[in-house]
Amino acid sequence: MSVNQHTHAGPPYGHPQPGYQGYQQPAYGGQPLPGVPHSPYGAYNGPMPGYQQPVPPQGYFPSLGFPSKGSPVSLNSDTSLAPNFIDSVRAPPTSGAPPPATGTSLPSGHLGYSQFGQGDVQNGIPTSAAPVQRPPAPQPFLPGSAPAPVSQPPTFQQYGPPPPSVQQLSNHMAGMTIGSIPACAPPPAGLGYGPPTSVPPVSGSFSATGSGLYTPYTASQGAPPPSVSQGLPLAQPPFSGQPVPTQRLPTEVPGFAPPLSSTGIEPSSYPPTTGAPRPPPMPGPPLSGQTVAGPRMSQPNHVSSPPPPTTLSGPHPGPPMSGLHGPPPPTHPPQPGYQMQQNGSFGQVRGPQPNYGGAYPGTPNYGSQPGPPPKRLDPDSIPSPQLNELPPQQKPRHRIDPDAIPSPIQVIEDDRSNRGSEPFVTGVRGQVPPLVTTNFLVKDQGNASPRYIRCTSYNIPCTSDMAKQSQVPLAAVIKPLATLPPEETLPYLVDHGESGPVRCNRCKAYMCPFMQFIEGGRRFQCCFCSCVTEVPAHYFQHLDHTGKRVDFYDRPELSLGSYEFLATVDYCKNNKFPSPPAFIFMIDVSYNAVKSGLVRLICEELKSILDYLPREGNMEESAIRVGFVTYNKVLHFYNVKSSLAQPQMMVVSDVADMFVPLLDGFLVNVNESRTVIASLLDQIPEMFADTRETETVFGPVIQAGLEALKAAECAGKLFIFHTSLPIAEAPGKLKNRDDKKLINTDKEKTLFQPQTSFYSNLAKDCVAQGCCVDLFLFPNQYLDVATLGVVTYQTGGSIYKYAYFQLETDQDRFLNDLRRDVQKEVGFDAVMRVRTSTGIRATDFFGAFYMSNTTDVEMAGLDCDKTITVEFKHDDKLSEDSGALLQCALLYTSCAGQRRLRIHNLSLNCCTQLADLYRNCETDTLINYLAKYAYRGVLNSPVKAVRDSLINQCAQILACYRKNCASPSSAGQLILPECMKLLPVYLNCVLKSDVLQPGPEVTTDDRAYIRQLVTSMDVAETNVFFYPRLLPLTKADVDSDSLPAAIRNSEERLSKGDIYLLENGLNIFVWVGVNVQQGLIQNLFGVSSFSQISNTLSTLPVLENPFSKKVRSIIDMLHLQRSRYMKLIIVKQEDKLEMLFKHFLVEDKSLTGGASYVDFLCHMHKEIRQLLS
Ligand SMILES: [Zn+2]
Repeated sequence: MSVNQHTHAGPPYGHPQPGYQGYQQPAYGGQPLPGVPHSPYGAYNGPMPGYQQPVPPQGYFPSLGFPSKGSPVSLNSDTSLAPNFIDSVRAPPTSGAPPPATGTSLPSGHLGYSQFGQGDVQNGIPTSAAPVQRPPAPQPFLPGSAPAPVSQPPTFQQYGPPPPSVQQLSNHMAGMTIGSIPACAPPPAGLGYGPPTSVPPVSGSFSATGSGLYTPYTASQGAPPPSVSQGLPLAQPPFSGQPVPTQRLPTEVPGFAPPLSSTGIEPSSYPPTTGAPRPPPMPGPPLSGQTVAGPRMSQPNHVSSPPPPTTLSGPHPGPPMSGLHGPPPPTHPPQPGYQMQQNGSFGQVRGPQPNYGGAYPGTPNYGSQPGPPPKRLDPDSIPSPQLNELPPQQKPRHRIDPDAIPSPIQVIEDDRSNRGSEPFVTGVRGQVPPLVTTNFLVKDQGNASPRYIRCTSYNIPCTSDMAKQSQVPLAAVIKPLATLPPEETLPYLVDHGESGPVRCNRCKAYMCPFMQFIEGGRRFQCCFCSCVTEVPAHYFQHLDHTGKRVDFYDRPELSLGSYEFLATVDYCKNNKFPSPPAFIFMIDVSYNAVKSGLVRLICEELKSILDYLPREGNMEESAIRVGFVTYNKVLHFYNVKSSLAQPQMMVVSDVADMFVPLLDGFLVNVNESRTVIASLLDQIPEMFADTRETETVFGPVIQAGLEALKAAECAGKLFIFHTSLPIAEAPGKLKNRDDKKLINTDKEKTLFQPQTSFYSNLAKDCVAQGCCVDLFLFPNQYLDVATLGVVTYQTGGSIYKYAYFQLETDQDRFLNDLRRDVQKEVGFDAVMRVRTSTGIRATDFFGAFYMSNTTDVEMAGLDCDKTITVEFKHDDKLSEDSGALLQCALLYTSCAGQRRLRIHNLSLNCCTQLADLYRNCETDTLINYLAKYAYRGVLNSPVKAVRDSLINQCAQILACYRKNCASPSSAGQLILPECMKLLPVYLNCVLKSDVLQPGPEVTTDDRAYIRQLVTSMDVAETNVFFYPRLLPLTKADVDSDSLPAAIRNSEERLSKGDIYLLENGLNIFVWVGVNVQQGLIQNLFGVSSFSQISNTLSTLPVLENPFSKKVRSIIDMLHLQRSRYMKLIIVKQEDKLEMLFKHFLVEDKSLTGGASYVDFLCHMHKEIRQLLS
């Protein structure tokens, strides 16, 4: 076999590999910085035990490791302390009607790759007629070789004198006049110059409720809805009659039916006694093998081993259940053990539910439910304030014990202790991986690591009818370029030489471990489409007595779930190997940006950050070239050619028809042009120091970057630093159309839609060129993220927002984000396709990308943090024997310009029994899918309809389980599948999120921003975003590396004498109780009393004591785990900022109308009962 030219640097690969020399992974991000510990990957509990010889770190060096500029700790009053998505001071909404919705439809007619992405035959094996010699190394970029684009005016093709609109200012930048920048009047008041003058009215919004602070849970919780009296029985015994799962949590433990005597759900309204009565015995038939009265435990839903089979002894207060379920069929006698429901015989198969997977209905409905829908409780009535206004005597005196309902913390802890110690070995089909919150190692033995792919279920129904009946979405969350911990092996690079990767002749699937070699190894049968393909002569190998190729362990593509192929020229645009990509930094130099110090900060930072551009393998320097543009109403391009003594500026004031006034000298090698670049970055802040220009353009900025990349014939990334709504006359000009009055109306969706199709069209052009746009926003008022973010979103870029940016408090966060963004691994010109075995196919995609057809996901750039969620539907029957296969193939250009294919394979089980589906689900992944589905839904449907649809779907999922899989029991009992017992609490968090249920303090831009962020999140990120992590800092062991045990997100869990940390991936809150010991306050904040703690700190002071060190190390560790640098917010109990903090206590009733966990669970129960009746 041919091997690639890299030296082997990884651990020994499998068995001896005579021919395979391994592959040194690209080390993106420059050299390790001395003294910087490598980040533990995504861990909650410190470093993992190594179990394999580490490969060189992948090379992203976390933001903390970048040479620090040292940021002063500001003690100044900071009015921008609110988290960036809760900033609230905005321009008044426009008075007029919003512009007509322009929609977000993806323009058609996008020019795709000719080799990859045109139906089933476009990915053809390269024709042998024109073999291409693969160069031994990435193509060197020849600066002079880039022909001028044909669209350029002829004068520029020759690099001749600039046209009249261009001023060439040579040699002495500092002395030049920037004549084309008209002096403007001082900025008008009201446009948001300078820091906001008023504190965002977070506290004001809730002042009326301030008196309710820290009232006991029982007083603030509100009564359960009236419906509870019909819906919830007294404490119910749990049924544990589910078959023992083969893995993971071995028992299905009912979620809502805790042991009678301890932690039952006890709404006293049923029965209407007020004591704690012993309910009457359950009238249902005794079921042997079902635990009813489990051991008393605080978390009764977390039995992780089969409970002892005892006879049903628990009482049952509910009505006879025959009307709901009927007794077990007589042919199905009670069975010992836990197998009785394996065959699903309790369930009638119901017809397909028309709502499955379809668009959000305008109103909630239950699809094929016969007859008029039963009177339903409006979901919104659950959290409605009226409940709190009931006279006290009407409130039930007993309520559900929060400890009796499924606890996310307990599930996380159980999984950690059960599954965190052993590596997850991927050799077995359909294995459910440990939770994202568990720290575990992965050993690839033929299936892709869960770090690359996670599924909503690892056992999927054989038929479409079953899938529709269950309503469980079948989806995979794919992170093709995910960062791995240093202990794990990165995908090997396989080079099949001139003929390229071996593929199936028909479906073009790539060689993988599931292909079946036949006829002595001369042919192979495709595992996806069953087509038989000749093995190319150079790839032939004999089979051993088991039918396995004798080189099985030598070839990653035969034995591993994930690997890479070196792509041939046939996989390249225009049949030409790509040039290395370029980064273009485009800096807003309007008044606001200059005045806030942002321009100076960016220029200073760029001087050092350019040394950390992504590099490949052992290359000495990055192949990425850089260019610089500044802009306000006009654009300034800079010639930083190494031969120049000083940079030259060229101004383009005709923004209506953007062109790039220079080609030679615009994109340069950092090392070659170091002095010129440094000089430029020194001069930019001076040049614009006195600008009075307040207006900006935006569309022409992207166009300029795009044209520059086109001219250089390369892909690349634009880093745009932008401050305001682009109101200057230019293509893509926007108007302020913010109108919060639209919330809760049918027009609310327009707030999420772009106000013009200009940017969608521009995005299409960017994708065609491989021009990815990263956007750093620094708004002081509304700037229409929904529109400005379109290009970023569709090109696979990242968006960052720093509202009311202030140097002292926000520069750390911004600089860390910028450093990480510049350094992180990224592929360009990417196309992803997901192939599936016969029976299912990928039908829907969620994420930041562009699609010009129904199968190919195109991304101008795809970085290591970006995730694509793919939904599958049946188009035929699946078989339990063969299971189902997924193959995700990502074609991309590496940071050095090498064209590659990254392949991830995953095999899933298939089932004919619904119980198997429910036993192999992963709720965290389900929530990731549901959130993305809902967040896309708000573009087209009223938000309330989206929420109702979510509730409806989850109720159907749980009702189907109850009907078909659970033991017969009282209808009054809520029984949740073990693997889905957190579905209600997590779903409630999604429903209460700012996008779906905004509070008055949340701006339109915040919502658009969050919507965009979530759409690219992986499962770990959505998990912590929707259910934040709450750590009692005062319980931390200062002598250990571990984190304190997390607690549930409820105010009643907080003690006034403790300090807590809450993080959700975007913010870190440090909450300080009023009764915290003075010594702790002194140790952590360096002040002597609670009242002296400043809530404007953006970092904790560095103090030399164990508690301070421990807390700061925890915060550092959390920063390393997240893809964005979180904003630190100090919250003092009973301080105004506490309202912000409480927004994240997601188990409580929210101040914006979101239901508490307990109330929502009651509501879900009612929904389920209605579906079952
Ligand atoms: Zn095939």
